[in-house]
Amino acid sequence: MLTRTEGIVLKTQKYGEADLIVTFLTSEKGIIKAFAKSPRKTKSRFGSSLEPLTHAKISLWGKEQTALPKITQADIINSFHQIRDNFQDFINISKLVEILINLLPEGIPNKKLFTFFLNILHAVKSSEQEPKDALHLITRIRLLATIGYAPRLKNCGRCGEKSLNFYPDSGTTLCRKCAVTPLGKGKPFMQINDNTIHFYLHSIEWPIHISNRLKPQQKILTELSTLLDKHLTHLLSKKLLSSEFLAEVL
Ligand SMILES: [Zn+2]
Repeated sequence: MLTRTEGIVLKTQKYGEADLIVTFLTSEKGIIKAFAKSPRKTKSRFGSSLEPLTHAKISLWGKEQTALPKITQADIINSFHQIRDNFQDFINISKLVEILINLLPEGIPNKKLFTFFLNILHAVKSSEQEPKDALHLITRIRLLATIGYAPRLKNCGRCGEKSLNFYPDSGTTLCRKCAVTPLGKGKPFMQINDNTIHFYLHSIEWPIHISNRLKPQQKILTELSTLLDKHLTHLLSKKLLSSEFLAEVL
């Protein structure tokens, strides 16, 4: 059966001598893996359409239940090479890609997510700010909110009492009473600022294309970025590879 859909290349892995396994976020089937026969040998056939983040029209061949359909055609709609060419942008978008690949099951259609991720790529590509720290932070928050994994930072997640203590193990702020474990041991938490919470709640609601207008203080950016890293480390049970990579090269 031939399937045609739009896809964004999330990741490619070498397979054998010259073949590739490509992970796409597609508009019709959610995240899928597909097989490209010798794209590196016959470069002209796929051109650069299988580069990470490329948005393309793809044709896939395989039985309905085939785990790994074959890519028969890929026509670029937008290459997003500007993002690949900008080190900071690429590292930050790679974090989003890791979130998607690690937290979402394959094969679950989610058109809203596809459109949202595409909008992020367009927003980053067209933003003239440098560096785009605020934009990247907001995209991370918004992506987590879109797939239902955003941390909860509004009052205690159990009883609603005011609290500024975020508990990565629970993914929420908790008051001291609710944070007590049965063994009586204090769980690790991070104290955050009122301003940070305010900015966070604001950034979740703003349309992504005007997020560039939000200009938070550096202190807020740093605090929220640390909080998100802790949250994600817990969610993914390992440090995001790109965070580690970034720590190594900087
Ligand atoms: Zn509480």
